[in-house]
Amino acid sequence: MYYLVIDIGGTKTSTALMTQDGVIVDDYVYTRDSKTYCGEDAVYENSRDAIVHIIDRFNVSMDDVLGIGAGCPGPLDTKRGVIIHAPLMRWKNFPLTERLKKDFNKPVALDNDCNLGALAEQRSGLAKGFKDVIYITVSTGVGAGIVINGEIYHGKSDSAGELGHISIEENGKQCPCGNRGCLELYCSGTAIKQILTEDAKKGVKALVFDMAGGDENKLDGKLLAEAASRGDSYSIKLYNRIGRTLGFALTNVFNMFDPDMVVIGGGVSKSHRFFHDELLHTLKSRSIIHVSDEQIVYSEMCDRVVIYGAYHLIKEFVEKGD
Ligand SMILES: [Zn+2]
Repeated sequence: MYYLVIDIGGTKTSTALMTQDGVIVDDYVYTRDSKTYCGEDAVYENSRDAIVHIIDRFNVSMDDVLGIGAGCPGPLDTKRGVIIHAPLMRWKNFPLTERLKKDFNKPVALDNDCNLGALAEQRSGLAKGFKDVIYITVSTGVGAGIVINGEIYHGKSDSAGELGHISIEENGKQCPCGNRGCLELYCSGTAIKQILTEDAKKGVKALVFDMAGGDENKLDGKLLAEAASRGDSYSIKLYNRIGRTLGFALTNVFNMFDPDMVVIGGGVSKSHRFFHDELLHTLKSRSIIHVSDEQIVYSEMCDRVVIYGAYHLIKEFVEKGD
């Protein structure tokens, strides 16, 4: 018997077949573009076809499938299985669970990708065995999933974990969310791109800009990491700033939750060797509670974290039998 899992992201959609004990069959994760901006039906059909691809590839009978676990960007109504608002996909009040149930005739469980990240890390990742775990993704944006006492903490309206929109500067940059100085405006992948583009326009001289060769599209987190590894002092300084910013944010997280462990994932976190020291230094010197080195780790599941989380979600949903 198997579980089907799907991770519908802003840019990519991934599907996999999982055994009952959480192994990805053939270590095969199928990934395709999400058809973002094509509208509700196109994105849904694209997602459904990605699941069908897995079924066909492994020639799975639906009788052998126990359920489908799905992760997508929030905000969601996890109880009704509805995506309240996903502007990137032009989804508004989209009944994802109902549609998947109708098409595949199997139980479906849905949660947001950050929550599933936290669940995956707490159930079978680096935070396995701990009760209180926060997962933070530093990617296109910044978000968090919170597991308290072994369960996902959703909040009153399924909206807990909006770490990226905690303000770190009262009169800082205007954020599309309505607030000012939001964390993700300073340390996300999008922020890195913006800072690099602005500095390039100002004529700042640094190796990272030479490496881009005047092509603005090349200015991103990946290039920044390359430049930093080649010793570019501008890039190293920018990473230090990011580390400090994340350290501020984590100070709030620790002061608020006193978690056993914080697991950091997402594209930007892959370059943690350039910002980890600064992050830890800021956190330790500012947090009111004692934080030890082992409490901050970087996800090893990386791009598969939502896949694993969706597996745990549907498995426990089916086993509970509700
Ligand atoms: Zn914001």
